[in-house]
This record gives sequence, C-alpha cells and structure tokens, in this order.
Amino acid sequence: MKRAIFPGSFDPLTLGHYDIIKRGVHLFDEVIVAIGINSEKKYMFSLEERMQFIKDAFENEPKVKVVSYKGLTVDFCLKNNVKFILRGLRNPADFEFEKAIAHTNRDLAPIETVFLLTAANTSYISSSIVRDVIRNNGDYTKLVPKSVRVK
Ligand code: ADP
Repeated sequence: MKRAIFPGSFDPLTLGHYDIIKRGVHLFDEVIVAIGINSEKKYMFSLEERMQFIKDAFENEPKVKVVSYKGLTVDFCLKNNVKFILRGLRNPADFEFEKAIAHTNRDLAPIETVFLLTAANTSYISSSIVRDVIRNNGDYTKLVPKSVRVK
C-alpha cells in the first residue's frame, strides 16, 4: 500500500492545497492530510474547524484521511507505515525551504519527499493571504473550497 502524508497547518485549506491532494490521490493508494500541532503558533481557525474543512471537502474521496499529529513528520511516518511525504511547490522560495526540510528528513529516516508543482491557476494562493482577505472582510470564497466558510 503506497501511503503518503501531506503535512501542513491548513489554516485554512485553500484551492492550492485542494489541487495537490486531488492529484496525490492519483499517485498514491492513500493520502493522509496531517495537521501538525505547534503550540507556539497562533491559528485563525481551531484544529477542529481545520479538520472539518478538509473532511467535508473530501467527503466523497475515500482515499483521503485527515489526522492531526505532534512532533516530527518522519516519526509519524515511521509509526504509521507512511513511505512518502507529499509537498507542493509554488515558487523558488518554496523550493529552497522545502529542499532543506527534505534533506533533513532523509537524514532522519528513509522516506521520500515527492513534490508536485502547483497548478498555474492556484499558484499564488496561500493560507496567509486567505487569512488577510478574511480579516479585512474581502471575498475569500474564490480562494478556498466550498467547505471553508467563516461563521
Ligand atoms: P505550512 O503551515 O507548513 O506552511 P501549509 O498548510 O501552508 O503549511 O502548506 C502545506 C503544503 O501545501 C506545503 O507543501 C505547501 O507548499 C503546499 N501549498 C500551500 N499553498 C499551495 C498552493 N497554492 N499550491 C500548491 N501547494 C500549496
């Protein structure tokens, strides 16, 4: 069973994440969308809200699982028999950042990181821009799946 983890904060899930997960489903038998818990970080959406957004967006996709985890991504992989880490690349800055993480992870465990280049029409979207639009009462609905709505 080829299992991949797609780790991130997903604060909130965007159309960019959605695109990567959808494409990951064609490559792997199971894609585990894993929300990393970082107690130092302040989030706009609670863990429960972030998990629900993802579950609702993929309710008709049985190959997508949603979990939260603490600690190192590679430790989660080793414990759960996950052999691949899936990441999206938007631009050179993402590449530099991701390269360092992928090399570090390879030092820690024999797990491959698989990169997918973003779809051109979602490459500019980031969770931080979405949060900014929400904070300033803009129309964020074009940037996120339908399941992501502010109460
Ligand atoms: P983090 O909080 O670790 O930055 P994110 O939740 O923002 O995590 O992102 C998780 C993953 O989704 C990363 O691999 C990131 O590159 C990817 N990603 C974020 N936005 C996009 C996008 N617009 N298109 C494709 N991939 C994206």
